[in-house]
Amino acid sequence: MKKKNKIIDIDQIIECTPKDSTNIKTPLREGAFDISDDKKIDIIESHFREIMLTLGLDLNDDSLKDSPRRVAKMYVKELFSGLNPNLKPKSTLFKNNYEYGEMLVEKDISFYSNCEHHFLPIIGKAHIAYISSGNVIGLSKLHRIVNYYSKRPQVQERMTVQIFNELKNVLKTEDVAVIVDAAHLCVSSRGIKDITSTTLTLEVGGKFKEERVWKEFKNFTDK
Ligand SMILES: [Zn+2]
Repeated sequence: MKKKNKIIDIDQIIECTPKDSTNIKTPLREGAFDISDDKKIDIIESHFREIMLTLGLDLNDDSLKDSPRRVAKMYVKELFSGLNPNLKPKSTLFKNNYEYGEMLVEKDISFYSNCEHHFLPIIGKAHIAYISSGNVIGLSKLHRIVNYYSKRPQVQERMTVQIFNELKNVLKTEDVAVIVDAAHLCVSSRGIKDITSTTLTLEVGGKFKEERVWKEFKNFTDK
């Protein structure tokens, strides 16, 4: 992989380009989708029951008795549904009939993810920009791509690169930028217990590495 250009004026931001491009794949075991969602829910339910019992909770209590199944369904069908490649959003492109040749910025796309180290929420927003190579994409598709990659156990750097790569593939251009700004509950609710910090990550390609284009993008997102 060739060396990235220096990015301008972004001290706080982590550059995400991985040294080894295989790192950007969410590590999945072999046969990850050989069993049905229903079977996964059954298995997770029984294990989560064990966790609750081990902690000493009384699962005969009305308020607790359905929690194992509730958590299992939430994991498979909601929080971690983006592990399933069949749920990857299909992105239809349209011809760029307006001859609009400057950047399109979709900012403050809110998302919820979970850190893969503590399984605690990551809550944040993504700013996405691209310059059309002749095709445009529905705005809601940008949100769907962010949502899909956030619904996995994640690390923010990898999520940023996954969104960036998907946009490049779908839009058939290198001229893409992604900023992710998120609060990690594993930093705020435990451990160092900092409730004010957020983590910024960035991936840029093509024209967004040029100073003029980068500054325009920052002007839009800083507003
Ligand atoms: Zn964590």
